[in-house]
Amino acid sequence: MKNLKKLLALALAVLFVFSMAACGKSDSLTVEDGKLIMATNASFPPYEYKEGNDIVGIDAEIAKLIADKLGLELEIADIEFDSIIPGVQKGKYDMGMAGMTVTNERKEMVNFSNSYAKGVQVVIIKDDSEIASIDDLEGKKIGVQQSTTGDIYASEDYGEENVTKYANGNLAVEGLKAGKVDCVIIDNEPAKAYVKANEGLKILDTSYADEDYAIAFNKDNTELQTKVNEALKELIADGSVQKIVDKYIPAE
Ligand code: GLN
Repeated sequence: MKNLKKLLALALAVLFVFSMAACGKSDSLTVEDGKLIMATNASFPPYEYKEGNDIVGIDAEIAKLIADKLGLELEIADIEFDSIIPGVQKGKYDMGMAGMTVTNERKEMVNFSNSYAKGVQVVIIKDDSEIASIDDLEGKKIGVQQSTTGDIYASEDYGEENVTKYANGNLAVEGLKAGKVDCVIIDNEPAKAYVKANEGLKILDTSYADEDYAIAFNKDNTELQTKVNEALKELIADGSVQKIVDKYIPAE
């Protein structure tokens, strides 16, 4: 009996040591020591897009300044938009930064930083489109980026059967140009960039929804969330964020 107790105590001690070791791992601030791994979808200009092999844009530059303040090296993973939140939840990435709108559903899955930008959902159409306002969207074929707020709202408002979901904004705009959809619902700044880069497209005057962008974190890593919020606050206060925004979004 005494031996059994001893054995049990030993087993518990071993278990304790192992569980501490497991905790130790998640004790570090980021997934990989010294790095800040940001997941994004680099098809969302001017927030994130590719210039050659580099990922540039407002989010990429703000993230770099945040990483600098935290003494970490920024690494950017370019993945599909709808893989960002699951990847952050699984602990593959430290944060998701992708012009991501704060929504109540997403708040159940991740924690958000303070907001650093505003977004507006708008509608891109062809120049010769018969769509003249939001009221004309009923029964039209709508292109969206899979799992974005544009997708979520359009599917709710106009029915899933009328919504074609593309992996990214680029493909949605290609779909519009090819006549596969009648319009694309997407955030205003990417919309402007796509209209500028493609002949024969325009944006409807009436917008569809107003939103706040923020950075997503794993719910267990509130320490990183707090540190990034502090860095972000300083970068907003000293004008660094505005400077980056002005560089990518020149005043009209
Ligand atoms: N703001 C939109 C959302 O969060 C789109 C973001 C994106 O496509 N990168 O759903």
